[in-house]
Amino acid sequence: MNVLIINCGSSTLKFKVMETRHDTPSCHERILAGGIIDRIGGQGEIRFKTEDGEDLREVREVKDYEIASDIMFDWIESIGLMKPGGIEAVGHRVVHGGYRFVEPAIIDDEVIDAIEAMRNIAPLHNDPSLKAIRSARARLGPHFPMVAVFDTAFHCNMPESASRYAIPIELADKHRIRRYGFHGLAHRFMAERYAIITERPLKELRLVTLQLGNGCSATAIDGGRSVDTSMGFTPLEGLMMGTRSGDVDPHLPGFLARHEGVDIEEVEDWLNRRSGLLGVSGHSNDMRELLGKKSKGDLRASLAVEIFCYRAKKQIGAYFAAIGGADAVIFGGGIGENSPEVRARICAGMEWCGLALDEDINAGTIGSENRISKDSARIHVYVIPVDEEAVIVRDTVLCLHIINRHLRR
Ligand code: ADP
Repeated sequence: MNVLIINCGSSTLKFKVMETRHDTPSCHERILAGGIIDRIGGQGEIRFKTEDGEDLREVREVKDYEIASDIMFDWIESIGLMKPGGIEAVGHRVVHGGYRFVEPAIIDDEVIDAIEAMRNIAPLHNDPSLKAIRSARARLGPHFPMVAVFDTAFHCNMPESASRYAIPIELADKHRIRRYGFHGLAHRFMAERYAIITERPLKELRLVTLQLGNGCSATAIDGGRSVDTSMGFTPLEGLMMGTRSGDVDPHLPGFLARHEGVDIEEVEDWLNRRSGLLGVSGHSNDMRELLGKKSKGDLRASLAVEIFCYRAKKQIGAYFAAIGGADAVIFGGGIGENSPEVRARICAGMEWCGLALDEDINAGTIGSENRISKDSARIHVYVIPVDEEAVIVRDTVLCLHIINRHLRR
């Protein structure tokens, strides 16, 4: 079965057309084509490629996700994959499943309405995916098999001690306020991949996974289940990120609104788009650039990197306490996969608990899967490049397989 996977981020649309060998969850995937449209909302950077090397590279205005989807579908058509025998199903990543979606769902009108209705708790998160879903339906027809896979689903069974905020329970329940957690596909991928690499049952493992990209989060995984995660009601909570502050004193937004004479939306915008690495360094949200500046003695860049690493280290310690130690700490995401310096800083001084990096292996591991801890270390440290699309394709195929079996009965 050929499945088109569409993964909309905050300013990107990524896609892959994957051939799965069997219509079962144990499928192996071959990537027939794929690509990314970066910087949606401005001068979009288009980079598409087929497995035979046929490609499209272009910079042009891409106003929104509808236009991005059209560009993607036009290209897929041009390489012959819209014909019979081309795409047979579509899997969409949807960021927020809210209180309703705890597993993948076949997309129909009712599911689209339900995702739309989630707007009250997730005003920004699902719009890009909804646009892509609507474009795909307009292109392929309303009965074309499509599945939504939710980033929040992995965290939906966290214990209440981790998922609830200490606010009046009536208010929390009235507004469906809980710690939903995000990046679920990434954390799940790292955990499942670690189990495969080490040939150990996921059920026996305690893991701390770190997804460190533009958005950053950590998850404590016990027996294959997420038992706590650092993002909360929104992806603003937790670790310091590219432009997001992560945790601040909850009093701060009100304080800033009053003392700066702005409304609360403005403060939320500061915390979401002007804080984190960008806000502290005053220069960039890009870790690579900050490491460069830091090596030239830029004090604010150094401070930004220091806070970033300290927060991540503190979170690892908290999760060791939550799950009683760990078999492994796993790094993923653009920073986690590519920056030996950040990984070394985060793991420094943790020998006391059995976590020690092999300096040379860490330094030599950039963008590849590897164990970077010392042979003698009690806690493994791994770099596992995250492949969210692999999770989406498996969930899509499994979901369609279950429904088909059900219909055949
Ligand atoms: P997103 O969360 O948007 O998917 P990514 O996972 O692509 O983001 O991560 C982007 C971050 O990864 C940026 O801060 C970028 O600087 C960082 N990054 C990429 N390569 C390197 C590198 N070699 N060294 C340090 N940071 C890197």
